[in-house]
Amino acid sequence: MTNYHFPKIDLHLHLDGSFRTETLYRLARERGITLPGGTLEGYRKFLYDCSGAESVNEYLKMFDGPTQVLQDADSLSVITEELICDLAGYGVRYAEIRFAPQLHTAGQLSQSDAVEAVLKGRASGLKKNPGIHVNLITCMMCVGPETANWDANMETVEVCRRYFSDDGVVALDLAGAEGIVPLANFAPLFEKAREYGLNLTCHAGDSQDWRTVRDAIGFGVSRIGHGHHIYENPELVRKAAEKGIFLEICPTSNVQCRTRESYAMHPAKNLLQMGIPVTINTDNMAMARVTLDDEYDHCLNEMGFTMNDLICMNINSANAAFMKDDLRKQIIAELQSYLKD
Ligand SMILES: [Zn+2]
Repeated sequence: MTNYHFPKIDLHLHLDGSFRTETLYRLARERGITLPGGTLEGYRKFLYDCSGAESVNEYLKMFDGPTQVLQDADSLSVITEELICDLAGYGVRYAEIRFAPQLHTAGQLSQSDAVEAVLKGRASGLKKNPGIHVNLITCMMCVGPETANWDANMETVEVCRRYFSDDGVVALDLAGAEGIVPLANFAPLFEKAREYGLNLTCHAGDSQDWRTVRDAIGFGVSRIGHGHHIYENPELVRKAAEKGIFLEICPTSNVQCRTRESYAMHPAKNLLQMGIPVTINTDNMAMARVTLDDEYDHCLNEMGFTMNDLICMNINSANAAFMKDDLRKQIIAELQSYLKD
């Protein structure tokens, strides 16, 4: 089920945005929860309508349903396992699935329980699909002023440290709404994470301008989620290129959230040419109704990329990935064999 036969990598993929709608609907019914739209078809229409939202913060409303449903270990394990099966079916070789443990503690689960449940789903998903490698990223959340959930975010740092390995939970992220308070307010959380030696990525420069990318780079991250608004500050682009900061670009998400006008107007290709190691990812497969193949189609048909660019960007992804070095070497060697002169 793919038109792109080189090893594909997805580094930016949210668990609670990449479920099968029929599964979420079934899990909701079993738990006595009514999803927006009422029926399965109605729920699909709701997601479709929201995906044409006016802003990122509007778009985030789509996550209310999954957040309501995914409050027990079984549901988290099931959707994790299914997502790995889906990715394997799309021919993805390596993926990093991210989720915010604190969003799954409204019932009986602690943040650690949520991580355990996702790890369990990962284990069964990998067992069924031995050809794919998958690691996990735990996200802190921006839900308002940084004080709103400071303790929960600090707990996520601790939980990430507890489970941190090179085969399971591999990094920490900050996700959620942008621009409510300056991103720099979250610096002490990243300081703690750095002290623990955690791998770091951070959402920035999507709905907000280049200043948030500058702040995120200041946190000591090696990767930025989105980050495309760095383009409006060429000096910062130069500095980021020098530092080798990877951008996790998610074209369809950017177009749907209207943080970029269209695929054709997206600066990803220019950023690649300016020396930024760009990577291409899906963000939310269910909400955006995309696979990596779809994103690559947009790359080739509308965004100015060539097939060699796609392979080079997957090499960037392999270099950016929080994966074991032997796997990295193997994937890069395979990707290089697909490059054409
Ligand atoms: Zn994201």
